[in-house]
Amino acid sequence: MFDFLNVQELLTPEEREIQRAARRFLEAEALPYISGWWEAGEFPRHLIPKFAEMGFLGPTIPVEYGGGGASSATYGVMAYELERIDAGLRSFASVQSSLVMYPIYTYGSEEQKREFLPKLAKGEMIGCFGLTEPDGGSDPDANMKTRAYRDGDHYVLSGTKMWITNGNLAHIAVVWAKDEAGVVRGFIVPTDTQGFKANEVKHKMSLRASVTSELVLQEVRIPASLMLPKAEGLKAPLSCLTQARFGIAWGALGALEAVYSEALAFAQSRITFGKPIASRQLVQEKLVRMAADHTKGLLLAWRLAQLKDAGKLRPAQVSLGKRDNVRSALHAARSAREILGGSGITLEYHSIRHMLNLETVDTYEGTHDIHTLILGRELTGMNALG
Ligand SMILES: Cc1cc2nc3c(=O)[nH]c(=O)nc-3n(C[C@H](O)[C@H](O)[C@H](O)COP(=O)(O)OP(=O)(O)OC[C@H]3O[C@@H](n4cnc5c(N)ncnc54)[C@H](O)[C@@H]3O)c2cc1C
Repeated sequence: MFDFLNVQELLTPEEREIQRAARRFLEAEALPYISGWWEAGEFPRHLIPKFAEMGFLGPTIPVEYGGGGASSATYGVMAYELERIDAGLRSFASVQSSLVMYPIYTYGSEEQKREFLPKLAKGEMIGCFGLTEPDGGSDPDANMKTRAYRDGDHYVLSGTKMWITNGNLAHIAVVWAKDEAGVVRGFIVPTDTQGFKANEVKHKMSLRASVTSELVLQEVRIPASLMLPKAEGLKAPLSCLTQARFGIAWGALGALEAVYSEALAFAQSRITFGKPIASRQLVQEKLVRMAADHTKGLLLAWRLAQLKDAGKLRPAQVSLGKRDNVRSALHAARSAREILGGSGITLEYHSIRHMLNLETVDTYEGTHDIHTLILGRELTGMNALG
């Protein structure tokens, strides 16, 4: 790992070993093929059981429910290594762990936890998380048209969700809907229920090695026992997003390392006007900015992990990590692409793939600007969001 300030010394030996093992596994099983999967617009489904074996699915969920019972930094280094290969791989694991297993663990009944979590941890069951709707994701409360009404021992759900990662892979969807009283509730919806349909979003120019879907629910009737009993109000889905954003703060740095290393190696060997371009001040400035942003971002991500394990992490602190680390990685990917010259526009190199992926990462789980406004509200006490 590129690690200018030896931040790895702040990790435990176990966390370091998990990161090394993840890197070995992903370099062997994913790195050689990722450009092909991305170009074909395919998520590598065959890796799901191996992701489970590597502990990528629910690493922080307690062992008694099939999870890894590991620290937040463990989850962080896994996200880092996955996104060093491709944000699509990290997105798959983030959704399964933070947006499906976490809400079931946190807001589910004991029966729901025992029924779903072990299967999700083994990758035998895949989940997705449906919050965003076609009218907009930044203001999910105002834009939530999906409704759930109680009918005896059942709930009936109708509505449309948009941009849902893993939608066409999923056996269950954690769907957020308003009940008759207008309160946001969470439901575990088996995707083979009558009236449920997932339509894959095609022609994406970003996150191509990831499945993105529209979910259409037409009078989907599910047992009332599949409602998450402890989730009440928008703070429940937002708390799940806080978990996932924490992983993104780490994951983006994996992408940053990938593009930095690629640009550095290219710059050291590319000769113009009789010298390697790495010897030029303009190129060095770009490399130094990438390395500096990676170094600061890693310290930030590590500190978020410490606060998270201590139960002291505030959502606005996670906003800082997500916002800044992703934007740093996006800038770095654009600079790396530039250093690579014409070669930088092909999939022979990885930088442009990371650059295009990072456009999604900059937008989803709260856009860059929305996190700016969350931080602005935290700092000033004044709300510029709405
Ligand atoms: C590939 C992909 C995968 C995704 N996966 C999931 C998933 O699994 N589950 C899920 O629920 N969602 C998912 N999303 C949705 C994602 O979270 C939303 O796209 C995101 O929240 C932004 O919502 P929006 O696209 O509707 O944009 P909008 O909310 O319409 O925003 C449009 C623009 O307006 C800006 N804006 C909005 N409000 C303000 C304001 N008050 N002040 C200033 N600017 C503002 C935004 O920053 C943005 O630039 C995914 C998205 C993508 C692209």
